[in-house]
Amino acid sequence: MFDNLTHRLSGVIKTLRGETRLSENNIQDALREVRLALLEADVALPVVKDFIARVKEKAIGHEVMTSLTPGQALVGVVHQELIAIIGGEKADLNLATVPPAVILMAGLQGAGKTTSSGKLAKWLMENKKKKVLLVSCDIYRPAAIHQLELLANQVGADFFPVEEGQKPGEIGAAALDYARRHHHEVMIVDTAGRLGIDEAMMQEISELEALLRPIETLFVVDAMQGQDAVNTAKAFSDALPLTGVILTKLDGDARGGAALSVKHITGKPIKFAGIAEKLTGLEAFHPDRMASRILG
Ligand code: GDP
Repeated sequence: MFDNLTHRLSGVIKTLRGETRLSENNIQDALREVRLALLEADVALPVVKDFIARVKEKAIGHEVMTSLTPGQALVGVVHQELIAIIGGEKADLNLATVPPAVILMAGLQGAGKTTSSGKLAKWLMENKKKKVLLVSCDIYRPAAIHQLELLANQVGADFFPVEEGQKPGEIGAAALDYARRHHHEVMIVDTAGRLGIDEAMMQEISELEALLRPIETLFVVDAMQGQDAVNTAKAFSDALPLTGVILTKLDGDARGGAALSVKHITGKPIKFAGIAEKLTGLEAFHPDRMASRILG
């Protein structure tokens, strides 16, 4: 992913040899290459524009330290701004509330919500020693409820048994009561995802949010979605008070643009990355590592 950026930059950096400071003129070619590389990587246009403007502002007049070539200095600025746009500091999961801390999973069908719910339960049990309850409100797809139950069994988390005919709100309320009585510290709620954004789905998840008052509402998005991720992110962030993002399928051949766009559009940090299908394939997201990976 982004092989292009390093490759393209290495070409133009040579043209900066001999310059003592970066100027509007001498960085133009380099910025054009960065812009093209980002567009090819499926980063949304408004995000690219903003990024280029930031790099330009930081780079122009930048005194080149004697130990660096101007090309290296520019790459340094691009690197710093990549980290900033991907999210700056690493953002931790917030669990600071009266238990159970509710985590609501939102996103389109196929984004990886159910798998990520199971992975997150495992992560919380192993890394934070939490007692976790998994709950599915996806009443439209009994297979999805069953899938979550299987995942709960695999990771050794508790699973809330749904009764036939229960509505999502009823499941949520009953699960909350169950979690309180059984002293669960975290309750992860998987929700229904449709293939596209629709009002009924947004209404349903908003009602669940209002009822459960989750400390974390995580938007789960498939890195392979590219440009489409932007529209989805916008719709979910308009409808719900998101607190963070899980970016899935980073192990695929995604061009990675979603990582840059999603934080920019939602204003919320990417907290976890899905890096494999298997249950150990979830890790805390580090913006600086992602930026290094992008630059190569
Ligand atoms: P949901 O409809 O949002 O609940 O999506 P699922 O959790 O059912 O995931 C859809 C598909 O994506 C499944 O085949 C998962 O195994 C796969 N998947 C989810 N996360 C990842 C990931 O990080 N990497 C890979 N390679 N596959 C993933």
